Amino acid sequence: MKRIIILGSTGSIGTQTAEVVRENAEELTITALAAGSNVAKMEEQIREFHPRYVAMWSEEAAADLRARVRDLEVTVYSGMDGLLALASMEEYDVLVTAIVGMIGIRPTIAAIENGKDIALANKETLVTAGHIIMPLAANKGVSILPVDSEHSAIFQSMNGEPKKRIAKILLTASGGPFRGKSKDDLRHIRVEDALKHPNWSMGHKITIDSATMVNKGLEIMEAKWLFGVVYDQITVVVHPQSIVHSAVEYVDGAVIAQLGIPDMKLPIQYALFYPDRRVMNQKKLDLFEIAKLTFEEPDTETFEGLPLALKAGKCGGTMPTVFNAANEMAVSMFLKREIGFLDITKTIRECMENHKVIENPDLEQILHTEQETYEFIRNRK
Ligand code: NAD
Ligand code: MG
Repeated sequence: MKRIIILGSTGSIGTQTAEVVRENAEELTITALAAGSNVAKMEEQIREFHPRYVAMWSEEAAADLRARVRDLEVTVYSGMDGLLALASMEEYDVLVTAIVGMIGIRPTIAAIENGKDIALANKETLVTAGHIIMPLAANKGVSILPVDSEHSAIFQSMNGEPKKRIAKILLTASGGPFRGKSKDDLRHIRVEDALKHPNWSMGHKITIDSATMVNKGLEIMEAKWLFGVVYDQITVVVHPQSIVHSAVEYVDGAVIAQLGIPDMKLPIQYALFYPDRRVMNQKKLDLFEIAKLTFEEPDTETFEGLPLALKAGKCGGTMPTVFNAANEMAVSMFLKREIGFLDITKTIRECMENHKVIENPDLEQILHTEQETYEFIRNRK
């Protein structure tokens, strides 16, 4: 039995992870769950999966949940202490990080220090603290298993291949709902328009990130850390059908890719059973039905988040934290209709321009840079 903890269990990746557990109940069991504020969904999950420990972000939500599950044997924690308590527990094997944002850094580090494998969906953690997490994982002998579909595809395309023979990574991108539009067209985009992703149904934050293509920028940095390549070895390829989930080109010119219908359950299940595979009862890829796959270059003028991400990544140090934190705050302001769509990347650019980089930052410096970035945005308003 593999025992798992899901951080962010009530979200898009979290609930799909729960489905994978439900479909593989003889082999997977849930030790603990954590979520932000969705008490009703958490109660439902507790009654179905019987975790012994759970955590809610606010103490108010935790108190509400305790009252609802009085009849069950479950301990309810709250706040960062709650997340850290779960990550530091003995009785589990894999931590699924399906939380949004760099709030995931500390629990992820705690789990690695605790010797646990990580099934990583929470890309913001790797973007901002990859230089701490990857060496720590190697040192502790734990695996970081990618859940992000592109990174899972790259990971699968590297199976059994010599790592030193990789020429480049072809990171595919759907292009989001605004592919083909000009910057001018994007001036008056509303929240409703940006939340309509053509191929994937995901949480709000990543859906907006896909519309700005900041998501692909974050994924470039995520790939750099996961696969130990340099930025010039990563090429973003716009592929609107989201069938080729990404590919790896080797020195002899061979390109190995992973294809499939857009469904996050496959990469989630693959991470949980790696290096094995399990049957999945979903729709399978029908190439006759799809008939045509297309590829194009990204429009880096309209989607400025992409070159900004590359710049942040290449600069390194605290710059990726500034890129990420500025984006997290700007997206939340956009969702509250406080700023326009194009202001998201404009905010990132301004924060980056204003920042003095700290090389090789420790955890405290990363978290301090995050707060400083938020402060800069607040004062700028
Ligand atoms: P989501 O918004 O649907 O879910 C987020 C989950 O995190 C929820 O359960 C929420 O309650 C919880 N959460 C939020 N703040 C919290 C806090 N402070 N403490 C504890 N729990 C908290 O998000 P999602 O779309 O599932 O994305 C999760 C992560 O996975 C993100 O990093 C995203 O980039 C990545 N990802 C998502 C997808 C996808 O298809 N949704 C694909 C690839 C990568
Ligand atoms: Mg992805």
